[in-house]
Amino acid sequence: MLEQQLSDRVLQTTSCPWEGPRTYDEARAAHEGFKAGLIAYATAIGHVALREENEKFRELMDESGWRCVKAYERMKDQSFSARNLRRCEAPNGFNHKLNSWSLSDWMTATAGELGEAANVIKKLNRVRDGIPGNKESPEELRAMLEEELADVSIYLDLLAQAAGVNLEAAVEAKFAKTSAKIGYVEG
Ligand SMILES: [Mg+2]
Repeated sequence: MLEQQLSDRVLQTTSCPWEGPRTYDEARAAHEGFKAGLIAYATAIGHVALREENEKFRELMDESGWRCVKAYERMKDQSFSARNLRRCEAPNGFNHKLNSWSLSDWMTATAGELGEAANVIKKLNRVRDGIPGNKESPEELRAMLEEELADVSIYLDLLAQAAGVNLEAAVEAKFAKTSAKIGYVEG
């Protein structure tokens, strides 16, 4: 009966019992926490023997954990950074090994795209101020700005990866740190 309860409990967990793991270690820690919770549950309702002896129970816990870690790996594999790196290095992509460029090279590429975005904004400033010289319409310029900002982000991500930084996690961490510093709580 308890086994069924636990089975239901685990199998109902179609998604991971945690949200937003940013690193493999976080996913593993969440998995361990979930297992500990199940053990505490079994203990609390008096089935220590089950916890210690029931292989099925352990399999269920391991299956749950395995699903969590696999889900994390799939998510990580499909993250923008993973796709960006694959395209960068793939023979049918840019065929450009991340480590074949220095941080300075990647920074130069990123700054170049930032400059391209700045140039578009300069032209939008001309539109704002009624100054001649643009070949593009304001609509074209806004579309160009969107693309140049995307280029900045793509190169910035590669720069971060070359530096061994998970940019998404770093941004979240820094955002949280600054929020804590100014006492900001998200609603
Ligand atoms: Mg560009």
